[in-house]
Amino acid sequence: MIKNVVDGVIKFRADHKLFPCAECQSYGSLERWRQVFWRLKLIGQNDNLYGGAGYGNISHRIQGARFLISGSQTGAQPNLYADGYACVDDVFFAENAVTSRGEVLPSSESMTHAAVYVANPAISMVLHVHSPLIWAHYSALEVSTIAADIGYGTLAMAEAIRVEVKRLSARGQNHGEIVMLGHEDGVIAWGETAELASMRMLDLYTRATRLKMQEKFVKPR
Ligand SMILES: [Zn+2]
Repeated sequence: MIKNVVDGVIKFRADHKLFPCAECQSYGSLERWRQVFWRLKLIGQNDNLYGGAGYGNISHRIQGARFLISGSQTGAQPNLYADGYACVDDVFFAENAVTSRGEVLPSSESMTHAAVYVANPAISMVLHVHSPLIWAHYSALEVSTIAADIGYGTLAMAEAIRVEVKRLSARGQNHGEIVMLGHEDGVIAWGETAELASMRMLDLYTRATRLKMQEKFVKPR
C-alpha cells in the first residue's frame, strides 16, 4: 500500500505494509515514556490547536536506519499498544519517502526522526513534542534552533536537523534538543537511551516552566 501521510501540513510517501509487525511488539519502553509526555500535554490532541491534528511523537532505533515510531494521528489516545506503533524500515530523503510496516501508518513526522538517527549512530531515541512554553523561552533556555523560514515537513527541515544534530554530536554529545522555529511549538530531543532523551526534554520543560513562574512574580514598575 502506498500512502501519502498528511497531518496538517506535513506529508511524505509511505510504502506501507498494513499488518501486525514483530518489531511493533517491543513498544513497551516507548509507551512508558509516551504516557508521561501525554499527561503533560506535550503529546496529544486538542480541537483548538493545530487544526485539531494530533501532535507529538516518539521513536526508538531498532537497528541501522530502522526505527519504531508512534502511529499517525494517535495523539488523542492516552495509551497506545502494539497496533499504535509502526516500524519504519528505510528512509529515502531525496524522494521524501519511507518503507514501513504495522497496523497503523507511521507518524507524519517520521522524516524528522530519521534525520536525527542518520546524523549520529549512537542515538537510540527521539522525541518530538509541542510546547508553547519551551517555544516562547527558547532564547533564555539557550537551546539550538532551526530558522523560522525552514518549513516543517520539508526536505530542508530534515537536512537542517541532520546538520545541527551532527554539529552537536561532534562535540562528543549524544543527546540534545532543538526548537524548530518554522514549526509552531515544535521541539525535539534525543539521546543514547530512552531515559537520557526523555530527561533532556523534561529538564527543558521544567526550566521553561520556572522561567514563566519568574515572569509572573516580577512586578511591573
Ligand atoms: Zn509537530
